[in-house]
Parts: sequence; structure tokens; C-alpha cells
Amino acid sequence: MRLASFNINFDTLNEAYGFPTDFTDRCFFEVFDRFVSIANQYSFKYTIFVIGRDLESGRHREAVAEWARQGHEIGNHSWSHHMNLGALSVPEIYSEVQRSHEAIANVIGREPKGFITPAWSNSYRLSETLLKCGYEYDTSTFPSWMLSPMAVRIALGYRGTEKAKRILHRRDYIRSLYASRRPTLFTSQNPQLQGRSLCVLPLPANRLRFPCWHTTGYMFGWDFHRRLLESCLRDVEYFYYLMHPGDLIAVEDQDPRYAHSLARMSVPLEVKMQRLSEMVAMIANSGRRLVTLSEMQKHARASLFASCETSAFVESSILSAARPEIPAQATVSQKSTNALERVKAPASL
Ligand SMILES: [Zn+2]
Repeated sequence: MRLASFNINFDTLNEAYGFPTDFTDRCFFEVFDRFVSIANQYSFKYTIFVIGRDLESGRHREAVAEWARQGHEIGNHSWSHHMNLGALSVPEIYSEVQRSHEAIANVIGREPKGFITPAWSNSYRLSETLLKCGYEYDTSTFPSWMLSPMAVRIALGYRGTEKAKRILHRRDYIRSLYASRRPTLFTSQNPQLQGRSLCVLPLPANRLRFPCWHTTGYMFGWDFHRRLLESCLRDVEYFYYLMHPGDLIAVEDQDPRYAHSLARMSVPLEVKMQRLSEMVAMIANSGRRLVTLSEMQKHARASLFASCETSAFVESSILSAARPEIPAQATVSQKSTNALERVKAPASL
């Protein structure tokens, strides 16, 4: 049976407001309860990628610990949501990943297995850092020609700010054009990382490489989005549906003390609920088994090993030329898998 997952990149009001002190974000309470009300109708659990710095608040930590107790998977969405994480130096990337990793582990009592970079800002050095930190899977790949227009669109929402520059000053525009639409296993030739592999689960995209996540409904209209979703459910073997808190934030959830223009705030909450419920119903009624991303990556790995079609990640010559070394101070806190030892590593790495 084919699988489907529902994941939330938990981009909070707290992050949008610049992480003010003593701020309790309704995203962790009222907004998340709306997501849960939809999940409960179909008895599935979310995979929720949280921003480490949001966990500086005790109330936010309590909420995330409760989500984990309820069976939702908690993943890592970086420490500060730096918009061009993939283009940072290796020590900077390591700090963003590992600091959040430790904050999440302290809250939920176990180490996160999955990662998603902010704004799909990806790079070889990020993938290698994830291996170093013991990650099992990564959903940072945007396998579409739409990366450039999407980056411009997001940057326009932040125009005049440092965030806008960071979103555009990325190095992965070309890479997104040839990235595989199917799961792959990333491995490294770094001797310290031998025997480890990172399962790369790309953002679902149809045969025309048109990416599908809930925001595309707001970008291109819901009739188009329904057809896009249908085509991805038909064609994409490992399908996940990406959402954000903004999909269910109401006007009253915002704090008037902080001036900030959020996307989709002109859409009434009832309409947002109806749209998200409809798309979730389409996926839940598609006949797929609903699992967390951690479980999905296990199936994807098994399938890759069984078929011996390990098409590991291939870098562009530009990125390969700039391939960095992992810093000596980086430590590994998780056991690695030896599974890839059975598979010949491609010489192109
Ligand atoms: Zn994000």
C-alpha cells in the first residue's frame, strides 16, 4: 500500500515578530488545536518541524512535549530559521542544526530524526552536516523550476528587510532544476561519515515538476491546486502534504504590539479551515496509509535497498568545487546506520 504523510513547517508568529521575550505564541495552542481537530477526523499524526529558538519559552516547550506525548513526530527546522541556511559556512550551519537538535531532544526526551531547512535553502554542506548530526531523513529538496519565482515571491513579502536579501542570495537555484523527484540516499566520502546515509524525501512535484504543498492553492487558485494534488497522488510514490501555521492562523491570533504583515491574513479562518479540510480529505480518501515522515523514510529506504537503485545525491560541479570539510569540533550524538555498507557508493560523490 502506498503511503502519505502530513507535515507542518512550524513557522511561528514568534519567529515573524523576531523572537520577543515573554511572548506566548497562539500558534502553539489555539492554532495547533485546529490542525489536531482535522487530524482526529482521520486518525493520523503530524510530523511537526519546530524552530529551536521558539523553545526558549517554557509554555512553548510544554506544548511541544505534549504533542510528542500524543504521538506526533517532532523534527528540526533549524535554530533561528535563517533564510539562506544552506549558503552559510559549515560551522554556522552546524550551530543552527545542532543547537536546535539539542533543544528539541531536551523537550521530547529523544533526538529528532528529520530535518527541513528554511525556505528550502539547501547545499551539500547542509546534507553532510545532517549526516554528522545523526539525521536519518531530510525534506529540504525542492525539485522544481519554481524555486526562483517562489524565492522572489517570498522575498517580496519581506521587501526592505534582511530576510528578503537572504532568501534571494542562495546558491541552489540550478540544483533544484535537476534534483530527483524520487527519494534518494545521500552519502559522504568523508571517512568520519562512512556507513551513514540520509534519506532525502523531496517535496512532491508532478511530472512537469510543478511542486505541490498547501500554499500553492493560495498562489495559483484552488481548481488548479485540486488537479495538481490529484496528479501528485497518482504519480508520487512517497507523498507528503506540507502545511504551515499560517494556513490556520486567524486575525485575532496576531499580537497588535508587533507590526508585521503575514501572508493569507485576508482569508477568513472558516475559509482556511474549509480549504485545508478539503485537501486533507482528498489525501486521506486516496487509499494511502497515513504515516509520519519517520515511518515513510523507513519504507523508502527499504525500497531503495531492495531495488538496488541507490541514486545518491549528485552535486553540481559548482557546489562540488566548494565542498567543505566538517569541522573537527562537530560531534555525533546518534548511532549511524550501517545499511548503506551493502550498497556501492557512487564515484560521483
Ligand atoms: Zn519555515
